[in-house]
Amino acid sequence: MDLKQYIATVPDYPEPGVMFRDISPLMADGEAYRYATDQLVDYAKSKNVEMIAGPEARGFIVGCPVAYELGVGFAPARKQGKLPRATVKATYDLEYGKESALYLHKDAIKPGQRVLVMDDLLATGGTIGATIKLVEDLGGIVVGTAFIIELKDLHGRDKIKGYDTFSLMEY
Ligand code: 5GP
Repeated sequence: MDLKQYIATVPDYPEPGVMFRDISPLMADGEAYRYATDQLVDYAKSKNVEMIAGPEARGFIVGCPVAYELGVGFAPARKQGKLPRATVKATYDLEYGKESALYLHKDAIKPGQRVLVMDDLLATGGTIGATIKLVEDLGGIVVGTAFIIELKDLHGRDKIKGYDTFSLMEY
């Protein structure tokens, strides 16, 4: 299946000059969503994953069905003010020039757990880098990172050198 036909490209969103890759047509098609998920599941199985972590909000869409299929847990990395209990925090630079922060509950990951970190798309690597840092702060072992889309020109892979990285398609 050619998954690229399910990605909508939106010029000048959210700012002039940015080509936004919209995965919602892929999520809207049951067969395509399952096909993409199955490939991510195969990758996760090859890494003996015990837990999945992903940043809000599209990281949930991509990571949760994989966690369900493997029968492992999912740790949601969230923006400020969303998690009700004690948290760890990591700051990062956004693709469009601002700073942001992500949080995990302190008990979201157990020390020594093998964690796959997932999101819909790898751009500069800031978001996934922050999620990796949170998992490691809690003693988790990041055994890989996985995405539906990788934007090669933004060199996110370079920011997460040393971590195995899997993506279903590249632009
Ligand atoms: P990074 O932190 O790697 O620069 O940006 C990746 C994060 O921003 C991901 O959480 C992703 O959801 C979001 N993002 C940035 N650009 C795009 C895009 O073109 N399409 C989609 N779907 N998400 C994007």
